[in-house]
Amino acid sequence: MSPPTVNAYYSPWRNEIVFPAGILQPPFFDANTDDAVNYGGIGAVIGHEMTHGFDDQGRKYDPQGNMKNWWTAADEKRFQERSKKIVEQFNSYVAMDDLHINGELTEGENIADLGGVKLAYAALEKALQRKPAAERTQKIDGFTPEQRFFLSWAQVWRNNTRSEAKRLRLQVDPHSPGQFRVNGPLSNLPEFARAFQIPDKSPMVRPAKDRVQIW
Ligand SMILES: [Zn+2]
Repeated sequence: MSPPTVNAYYSPWRNEIVFPAGILQPPFFDANTDDAVNYGGIGAVIGHEMTHGFDDQGRKYDPQGNMKNWWTAADEKRFQERSKKIVEQFNSYVAMDDLHINGELTEGENIADLGGVKLAYAALEKALQRKPAAERTQKIDGFTPEQRFFLSWAQVWRNNTRSEAKRLRLQVDPHSPGQFRVNGPLSNLPEFARAFQIPDKSPMVRPAKDRVQIW
């Protein structure tokens, strides 16, 4: 990646995470905006890259970058049970016409999105505890810090894609389309339902038995 590239990566064989300068600007990061927006943007992207070290591929590497199984059999079994649910979740989404998302192809990215948003949310809550009480609940444009966090995650994935490109990407891109990178993880998170006071049985609140929790 070059310095102006708007992207980030985790490399399991180097155990290395890189954020080029290009991604450290709006909508991902803005030094002049409030913390909640930055945690929901670049914060969740940082959490995403960290979680790649523990997704279906990254988990196969040890800290030196060697492909070596360091998991106990019990943990491995539980990881596979949980990650099977995220594969099923994304397989069920129809992205366009009759084309479903490929849950196996996008598994690692979807695990990283879910873990990344969850990690960054926990970090925001911790950061808010250090603020004066009034700031912890301060609304901006009518939204609480927790609501701004989730809105920011949604804003970073806004995009406009031609249907031909979307059709191609659904076959080859390990990332889910932007809309599902938002609705997929957020509908698994009780933190999201709480922030917007969304009742159970709403489309954006998955039933407890289907809700995915990996990390
Ligand atoms: Zn990724």
